[in-house]
Amino acid sequence: MLVADTFANAQGYSVQAIEIMTQRGIPSTPSNYTIWYDYVSGKNPLLTSAINEIISGDGLFSNEISNGLYTRFYLTDQQQGEHIQEAGNKLQETLKHVINQISEAGSDTENYGEKITNLATDISGDISGQETSSSLKDFVAEIVRETAAITEKNKALQNQLQHSSNEISNLQQNLEKVRTESLTDALTQIGNRKHFDNKLIEETKISSEEHTDLCLLLMDIDHFKKFNDTYGHRVGDEVLKVVARKLKSAVKGQDTPARYGGEEFTCILPNTSIHDAASLADQIREKIAKQVLKNKKTGQEFGRITLSIGVSKYVRGEALEGFVQRADEALYRAKGQGRNRVIKEIT
Ligand code: GH3
Ligand code: MG
Ligand code: MG
Repeated sequence: MLVADTFANAQGYSVQAIEIMTQRGIPSTPSNYTIWYDYVSGKNPLLTSAINEIISGDGLFSNEISNGLYTRFYLTDQQQGEHIQEAGNKLQETLKHVINQISEAGSDTENYGEKITNLATDISGDISGQETSSSLKDFVAEIVRETAAITEKNKALQNQLQHSSNEISNLQQNLEKVRTESLTDALTQIGNRKHFDNKLIEETKISSEEHTDLCLLLMDIDHFKKFNDTYGHRVGDEVLKVVARKLKSAVKGQDTPARYGGEEFTCILPNTSIHDAASLADQIREKIAKQVLKNKKTGQEFGRITLSIGVSKYVRGEALEGFVQRADEALYRAKGQGRNRVIKEIT
């Protein structure tokens, strides 16, 4: 709390957190930044006392200790999302602080300029006076002192600015990496369920506001359990990667392909009629069905797999669940009618 009292505002906390992290050799990750920002602001007394305990012990903050603190004090997924957001906001504050420093440096230089001008005026006044030579010496000495002082101050400020801006760009990069990772499926490298959920909210909102068509594909690999049982889970994983790649390459930039879970994939299609969505789905289905799967190194063939796909169209203003459920029901019917096919929702 003592530290919190010395720093009057959030910008101060930001800079202070960065300084402590640098002094202690703590990597500038968003989670570490969150911990140390909260520590210097003193807003989480439990966190503060846990950190103080470590400081009064060996004072070492290894990655393991830091991760432990983060898990302990910022545990749930939702909280993590919020903290990433918050770390972003704090970065903005640090930036503001840096900008203040720059304008402060500007006004120092201005003051210096004023002083020099005043001295020059005094000198010219004195030249016409009596004790010209000794006064002149004093003035020159003062100019030298002022110049040295301002140069020193500018240098320190510049170092500080350089340091802050390095830290900011580190944090920004880490932040972006964490954000991207949290929305990417680790196996297939396309969007994950969370990404899909976010995009679905976004796209249904746009569709409602702008009165544009919006469709959804839900895809499920046929008899994939049998495939895994025959060739092993590792080969199954490779097949999931192939499907993701083909799906991604079949759609345009505005579309959102994602892994819905397990062996199920999805794709959100903005500005697309249900007729066009079904025909795109059929292209994807065909592309997958004709692909002979094989081990590139050994040449061993694993045959082919097929997809069943359900298609639904968004009804403006409806709840998201209904939109997804109609695609799911269509997919279920595609399975029932023999698999390896595309079925549209019942209208
Ligand atoms: P259906 O045609 O009715 O969809 O049959 P299915 O066998 O594909 O469906 P089921 O739901 O019975 O089984 C899904 C299988 O998908 C079970 C599991 O072996 C496999 N699977 C799910 N996730 C993964 C994964 O991440 N990797 C691998 N290799 N297999 C997975
Ligand atoms: Mg399934
Ligand atoms: Mg399946």
